[in-house]
Amino acid sequence: MIEYQTDNIFAKILRGEIPCEKVFEDNNSIAFMDIMPQSNGHLLVVPKSPSVGLLDADSTILGNLFTTVQKLARAAKQALDADGVTIMQFNGSAAGQTVFHLHVHIIPRYEGVSLHHHGAAPADPEVIKSNAAKIRAALSSKI
Ligand code: AMP
Repeated sequence: MIEYQTDNIFAKILRGEIPCEKVFEDNNSIAFMDIMPQSNGHLLVVPKSPSVGLLDADSTILGNLFTTVQKLARAAKQALDADGVTIMQFNGSAAGQTVFHLHVHIIPRYEGVSLHHHGAAPADPEVIKSNAAKIRAALSSKI
């Protein structure tokens, strides 16, 4: 397993050094829109605590992390009128991981619509902004 590096892109987002389209933050994690979404409304939940992936994470952070994943998955499904939600999480480059700070993908799914390739193409920033606004609105309503 590789060592955790503090210059990874999600660590920079967590430190506020680069921007993101944030939809949620609490003491344990943040959630923001994926810039190369595999479906409309793809977002990421990132714990603040540093670990490369699931395998080296402190188990005490995982409970909070998955509670947040559930909250965001419900909000995204409702906000974007999705038919289902795929949750993905990759460990190691052999498994498809490209950013080496633990994160969970929340990918809204629509009947009959296939996923785009992983990290293949950036989406229109205006669409990402609009999806983020809808998810924030769903989070602030009771779900
Ligand atoms: P993984 O391959 O599981 O490590 O996933 C990394 C994800 O981060 C991919 O889906 C990328 O599209 C996404 N990503 C990379 N850079 C950024 C960024 N600056 N803001 C938001 N998402 C990003």
